[in-house]
Amino acid sequence: MAMLAEARMMTSHPFTRLAHPAPVAASVRTAALADPGFGKLFSDHMVTIGWTAGLGWHDATIGPRGPLTLDPAAAVLHYAQEIFEGLKAYRREDGTITLFRPQANAARFNASARRLAMPEMPEELFIEAIRQIVRADREWFPDVEGGSLYLRPFMFASEAFLGVRPAKEYKFLVIASPAGNYFKSGAPAISIWVSEDYTRAAPGGTGAAKCGGNYAASLVPMAEAIAHGHDQVVFLDAAERKFIEELGGMNLFFVFADGTLITPPLGGTILPGITRDSLLSLAADEGLAVREERYSLDQWRADAASGRLTETFACGTAAVVTAIGTVAGHDAAFTIGSGGPGQLTQRLREHLVAIQRGRAPDPHGWVMPVA
Ligand SMILES: *Cc1c(COP(=O)(O)O)cnc(C)c1O
Repeated sequence: MAMLAEARMMTSHPFTRLAHPAPVAASVRTAALADPGFGKLFSDHMVTIGWTAGLGWHDATIGPRGPLTLDPAAAVLHYAQEIFEGLKAYRREDGTITLFRPQANAARFNASARRLAMPEMPEELFIEAIRQIVRADREWFPDVEGGSLYLRPFMFASEAFLGVRPAKEYKFLVIASPAGNYFKSGAPAISIWVSEDYTRAAPGGTGAAKCGGNYAASLVPMAEAIAHGHDQVVFLDAAERKFIEELGGMNLFFVFADGTLITPPLGGTILPGITRDSLLSLAADEGLAVREERYSLDQWRADAASGRLTETFACGTAAVVTAIGTVAGHDAAFTIGSGGPGQLTQRLREHLVAIQRGRAPDPHGWVMPVA
C-alpha cells in the first residue's frame, strides 16, 4: 500500500534533482556545525515547487540553495501573501532520520493557505519535499546537545501584478538550517514583557495562520520587551486586553499547585501549535487535569502571588519547552514560583524530547522515519 501510494505520488510530482556544483567543504561544514546557534546557518540544498493557476503544482526540484530571482512587482513584496511552517528533523545514533508529526504541519500549512487565499498542497507532496531535502542534506545534522535540522517550508505569491486579488502564481520552497539550542543564553528561565500597547491578533484576523505578516506586526512590541530588559513579549487579547494569548512565536501553559494545567483556547487569535497539542496529550496521558480556558493577566499575577500558580512555560518547535521566570509590564512585575524552571515544566520537556528523539515509546505514532 505505502509503496503504491509513493509510486503514484512520484509519477504525479517527480522531483528533478539538480547536482550541486560546489557544496560547502566538509571541514568548513564540520566547524560550523560545532556551534550552529539558531537560524543563522544553512545547508547546501533547497526544494522549489511552482504553482500556477491552471497547471497547479509543477516543476518540483531539489537543487543547490541559492538566491531567488523575483520580479519587483511580485505580489508578496506588496501585499504579503506569504505563509510558512517550522519543524525539526532528528538524526538518531543508527543514522535514521525522523520527523515529528509532519502531517500536522502539512494540515496547518493548508489552513494558513486558505486564510491567505493561497493554493493548498497535497499532504504527500509537502512531506515528500521535506524528505527530499533531509536526504540531500543528511550531513548537515549537528551532533551538539539538542541539535537538529530545522526545516522551513514556505510559500509566497510570485506573480507580477499590482492589482489587489489572490495571485495566480506561487512558489513553495523548503530550506534547512542546522540548529542547536534556541535561546543562546541557555538561561534556565526567561523573563517576559506584557505588551499593553500592541496586540498580535484580533478576532477574525490572521492570528491562527502562520504568516509572515503576523511576525512583522510583533517586531515593535518585541523590541519594546528587549528595551525593557526582557527576553520575549506576551500578548493580551485584542478585544478586552485582559486575557493572556501567547508569545510572539510560542504558546503558553499555566501550571497550578493542585496539578491542573491551563492553556488559552484556540479561537482564531492563537496559533494552533503542534507542541501545544502534543503537550496537551502528554499531560492527559500522565493523568493531569488539562483545560483549554481563558486566563487573565490579573488572575495570573494574583495566582503567582498566592502560590496557587506554581509554573508557567512557553512551547514551540524551535525552543520546545521554556520556563517563564518573571513577568513585567508598565505597572506590574511578578515572579513565578522560585523564578526558575519548575518540575512539571522540566518533566514534560524531557518526555517530549525523548519521544522526538526516539528515546521513549511513541504511543501516539507521532514519529515518522523518512531516511
Ligand atoms: C509556530 C508558532 C507557534 C508554535 O507552533 P509549533 O507548531 O508548536 O512550533 C506558536 N505561536 C506562533 C505565533 C507561531 O508562529
